[in-house]
Amino acid sequence: MRLNFALAAAAAMIALAGSAAHCSAAPAGAEAFDRSVASADNFEPAIPHPEQDAAVKAKLAQLRDKVGRRPNIVWLVVDDMGYGDPGCYGGGAVIGAATPHIDQLAAGGLKLTSCYAQQTCTPTRSAILTGRLPMRTGLTRPILAGDKITKNPWADEVSLARLLSDAGYSTLLCGKWHVGEEEGMRPHDVGFDEFYGYYPAQKEISQRVDERRYPGLVRDPRRLAAFEGAGPEDHLTHGFKGGRTERLAQIRSIQDMGRADAVLTEFTVEKIKQLAAGDKPFFLEHCFMKVHCDNFRNPDLASLSESKYPYKEAVSEVDMHVGAIVDALDQAGVLENTLIFFTSDNGPQMDAWPDAGYTPFRGAKGTTFEGGVRVPGIASWKGMIQPGRVSNDVFDLMDLFGTALTLAGASTDALPADRYYDFVDQTSFLLHDQGRSNREAAYFWWGSELMACRMHEYKIHVKVVLSQAPHMHIDLSVVNDVGLAPWFFNLHVDPKEEMTVGHRLDPWMATVIGKLKAHAATFKTYPPKQIGL
Ligand code: CA
Repeated sequence: MRLNFALAAAAAMIALAGSAAHCSAAPAGAEAFDRSVASADNFEPAIPHPEQDAAVKAKLAQLRDKVGRRPNIVWLVVDDMGYGDPGCYGGGAVIGAATPHIDQLAAGGLKLTSCYAQQTCTPTRSAILTGRLPMRTGLTRPILAGDKITKNPWADEVSLARLLSDAGYSTLLCGKWHVGEEEGMRPHDVGFDEFYGYYPAQKEISQRVDERRYPGLVRDPRRLAAFEGAGPEDHLTHGFKGGRTERLAQIRSIQDMGRADAVLTEFTVEKIKQLAAGDKPFFLEHCFMKVHCDNFRNPDLASLSESKYPYKEAVSEVDMHVGAIVDALDQAGVLENTLIFFTSDNGPQMDAWPDAGYTPFRGAKGTTFEGGVRVPGIASWKGMIQPGRVSNDVFDLMDLFGTALTLAGASTDALPADRYYDFVDQTSFLLHDQGRSNREAAYFWWGSELMACRMHEYKIHVKVVLSQAPHMHIDLSVVNDVGLAPWFFNLHVDPKEEMTVGHRLDPWMATVIGKLKAHAATFKTYPPKQIGL
């Protein structure tokens, strides 16, 4: 099995590091370097911060006394937005598409600069709802039309939506889903009270109607008919817990596709009014269709960006909708009792350039270099998160799972004990004025291959995705083993991961590879699930 190979590779590298013992023996301070402590065999070890935890617990109790109900949780997930796209991450007006609302969200809260996603859509979207890596749930790559999955991964996964639902929350997913279209795999089948959105990504929908890019499909009635039989759902779908599912408007033109995010935002804004007036706290996951290729300008709007490129228009439109959603929460009077988290599900898809985002890092979507997995991450909570905070501590988007459980007062005791959980509860990191991350390391997989690990300022790669043509990180790439030594980068001095410091130059490589090996070993105790992807 490939996993065993990865384990063997990791073990070989440990031996290699040891062979250079005269200069890089496992350091005496390895335990202090790795500050994490395991609370149980099946939970990712976390860095203990008892004082930080206690202070935040008191702060939350105080808010609860004041407001009288548990906090709302709102996730804003953009599709394929690059780390460098928002102005507050160095992009914005500098690259032709100002993002004043996203910037304002960051200025009013906590901007994370080492926030990590998985390297493609389905893996991230499933991981944040299960608190588990794709390699554990089987959702190791995007599900595409025609995929024959042998087992419904949700049959035995417990989603955050279900847990929060059971804990008394209203739960809504609005926008893109991309974790299965079949009955039993839809948002309203796996725990959400309500789903209003599209199952697949924009390109999968718009290829039916985009004559310029897909003439061989759009202008050939026979092929189009054949495609209609196997293609992904192109209707707006409204689903309700219990199974009722309504097909609403079909996307019949690229103009319709261009309007999709405005329609979704309108729904979310209206729902916020209803949910805020209701008697339950709510969990709302709003997933934008944009800025995944292919982006089409919303014909109902005047041009929004200085650049005018479709991608840039999409960035500015998403920014506008972020502003509208935050404003709706404000108008509903719930901003002081709502954690808002803004992020992207993976790095920019450079294969679609120039309909693609910007990252200052190496690689892009589809790779486990920083460009593929380091994404914007903004936590905002009026009165609870000190405005203007910035942290470079490691945060994995799966941590949203554990944080949401804590905010809802839901115990991890409710989680099945027969499996491993990769999330870390980051409530105290996000909410303490001087909060430090409770996560020691983040791990990166590509399909079923264990690739890399980020720990402190270091990133180690035991395998790499290399593109065979510039920026073709998906369509023309290969997964390679590294050579005799792992690729080991110090991201403080080499954020583009170009200059390995190797085992000769840095004393911590053996410790970091030990961390990677310990991670791989959890799959021996808790074997991965196969679903035929
Ligand atoms: Ca994506």
